[in-house]
Amino acid sequence: MVKIHNFGAGPAKLPEEVYEIIKDELTNFGGTGISLLETSHRSQTYLKLNTEVQDVVRRLLNVPSNYKILFLAGGGQGQFAAVPLNLISRTGTADYVVTGTWSEKAAKEAKKYGKVNLVLPTTDRHTGIPDVSTWKLDPNASYVHICTNETVHGVEFDFIPDTKGVPLVADMSSNFMSKKIDVSKFGVIYGGAQKNIGTAGVALVIVREDLLNQALPICPSIFDWTITAKNDSILNTPPMFAIYIMGRVLEWIERKGGLDKMAEMATKKSSLVYKMIEESNGFYYAPVAKNSRSKMNIPFRIGSSEGNDVLEKEFLKGAEARGLIQLKGHRMVGGIRASTYNAVTVEEVETLVSYMREFYQQHSK
Ligand SMILES: *Cc1c(COP(=O)(O)O)cnc(C)c1O
Repeated sequence: MVKIHNFGAGPAKLPEEVYEIIKDELTNFGGTGISLLETSHRSQTYLKLNTEVQDVVRRLLNVPSNYKILFLAGGGQGQFAAVPLNLISRTGTADYVVTGTWSEKAAKEAKKYGKVNLVLPTTDRHTGIPDVSTWKLDPNASYVHICTNETVHGVEFDFIPDTKGVPLVADMSSNFMSKKIDVSKFGVIYGGAQKNIGTAGVALVIVREDLLNQALPICPSIFDWTITAKNDSILNTPPMFAIYIMGRVLEWIERKGGLDKMAEMATKKSSLVYKMIEESNGFYYAPVAKNSRSKMNIPFRIGSSEGNDVLEKEFLKGAEARGLIQLKGHRMVGGIRASTYNAVTVEEVETLVSYMREFYQQHSK
């Protein structure tokens, strides 16, 4: 069988070393003689793991001591509801910066719980981040929400916006732990784990303590950050296995050299693909403005800026035959999307790029 290279956008590739560890620990966790899957969430074993995973998050991101690290069920979209449920009560209104599908979904969910101000003009063509000077921020907003990396459109923030004291809330589902960030610039950071740091089912939430204690009365307890923090993320049975895998992935990042190393690799991998696109005289077309191009998800078209259906299908077919899989673009935007998360190696990206070169040479006039 041909070796598989998984460029899927999520659930995405996990590091091979982590699979080896999971295999070893699956039926006998930490010498207990039983699997973590059948261990009580109130046991010393789990309490220890719960602390260890929080600790590695704190070390990697240098999380200041006035921030809580929480694990919640319900994935990324669970937090689309949890964010307004926990934060919108202060003024009843929130700012949403919509730069792609995910932030659009987050804004839509928030409308159920309060007033949403769209900071940018509405569009369905997301190809960059409009200059901050054009943003219509509401000084009365309870918070400003951004998505730091739009997984579908491939639009990534390369800066942290100044929100003039209004708490900044960021969905980092698809670029969490891909580079160092200054956590103190954010009120809340959250993300589902299954893109870059683990598997589906758990959301990692990092929240500044002064933003607790203001949840709406209707907020379900399991989404209430204050109650979750008080219970050290063990209010009910947490998605323990997903939290465990996230912990093992984060320890792997640490062993590999931490977030600076991940950032260096992400730049290297994404540059290889963008360079190939640039060198193809328009055969490959990347729609996103250069300063907002994602280092995690690279969408592109083949044949023209609108894409050529026949060529794109053929590209995907040839890719699969070479073991290069899950490259189909999201159904909303079409085309091709290569995701180059932490677990994807430079060698794998080189294999993809050499296929892109070969396909280009065969099909460009
Ligand atoms: C995948 C994704 C989500 C949704 O995550 P789920 O865990 O499936 O709810 C939210 N935001 C971004 C940026 C994503 O990439």
